[in-house]
Amino acid sequence: MSKYSISQVQTYVQCPLKYRYKYVDKIPTPEFVETADTLLWSIVHKTLEKLYDDVSIFKTPSKENLLKFYYNLWTKKENEAKENWWEIQVINKDFTINDYKHRGESYLTKYYDKHSPFEDIKVIDTEMQIMFKLDNDINFQWFIDRLDKVWNTFVISDYKTNKRLPTEEKDEYIEQLTLYWIGIKQKYEKYFENMKARLYFLHFDIEDERDLTSDRMEQVKQKYINLIKEIEDKKTKYAMWDKKCFETKQSPLCQRCDYLSICPLFNAINTDEEIVSELSEKTLASLVDDFISLSNQISDLEKQKDGLKDIFQKYVLKKDPNNEQTDFLIAGNTWNVRVSKKTKISVLDKDKFIEKIKKLWLFDSYADISWQNVDKLFLKDWSASIEDFMWAVSQDIRFDVRKVNKKI
Ligand code: SF4
Repeated sequence: MSKYSISQVQTYVQCPLKYRYKYVDKIPTPEFVETADTLLWSIVHKTLEKLYDDVSIFKTPSKENLLKFYYNLWTKKENEAKENWWEIQVINKDFTINDYKHRGESYLTKYYDKHSPFEDIKVIDTEMQIMFKLDNDINFQWFIDRLDKVWNTFVISDYKTNKRLPTEEKDEYIEQLTLYWIGIKQKYEKYFENMKARLYFLHFDIEDERDLTSDRMEQVKQKYINLIKEIEDKKTKYAMWDKKCFETKQSPLCQRCDYLSICPLFNAINTDEEIVSELSEKTLASLVDDFISLSNQISDLEKQKDGLKDIFQKYVLKKDPNNEQTDFLIAGNTWNVRVSKKTKISVLDKDKFIEKIKKLWLFDSYADISWQNVDKLFLKDWSASIEDFMWAVSQDIRFDVRKVNKKI
């Protein structure tokens, strides 16, 4: 059974190649950077979550206390940033962090004044994770901001802090909410008669409410099932070496794509046949020079890296002359290096080896032999004397590099 999220499918709709890079090739993207915009979004969401968690137990906080909670979250984040030496980035240099804080305060104040005393609703859940079946083969998973019961109607709510009022995107949002409804219906159908989806555009103090009909749900469901079938089909083709089946789709969003530097549409050095055929001889000659110069630099760097590995290995040998430890952690300023020793056995004469394990009645247990992984057989199951012509024993040293603070 395949598992999808709405953002996965929407990435595919935005650009099939981006989907491939992200979810099939799993090419790492730059580390997530906390910006004032993402913080505003998450802190406003957390404050509204706190408000409705309290409302659900008949303990509605005062507006002043709610804003105190909101500002405490900002302070906590700012302290965390200071302690860990990172900076909250403000992309638009015309604004300061305080401008963002005031923006959030204004959203929450207006929202509170408009909806207080919060008596007409029963909150079913906030920040709710839903997992549902789109059909027998597809599982979907996502979070919704809030689910309420208003008389005999269930209402899904989603908060937006965008500074631009979306026009075209809006339908996409409603599509998302419609999909969440399929999950809610699967869980709670007997408790409600009507369903609604509500989007809060906090910056504009606009609430966009839509009734959800079974027809609409069926349309959206079918659209997503078809898209997922298309993705699965391309994944199969890709696995069968059709490397171009996930096509590019250029749009203004390309400028913010994490894969811009490797995308064939924007990268001069790529394997796209059309672009390759357009290369002039002069360009090609200079690319050859670049290629050789890069290869030389890589080989110089590899040599330097090997030199450092050698130093680490000698350091470990000095620290552990009797070869008693298998793992060493050498701490750097930003990174740690773990040096691990592993006994590695390689088979030199496979025929003789098979003959031997047959005689020892071990062949059936190891009939599907992984020749790279015979260590287990030698070290655990076979205590017969070693015959050199059949295998070699060596020490395998591995170097793993990880960022400091992450558990190794
Ligand atoms: S840069 Fe544009 S076309 Fe290329 S992978 Fe990203 S979204 Fe797709």
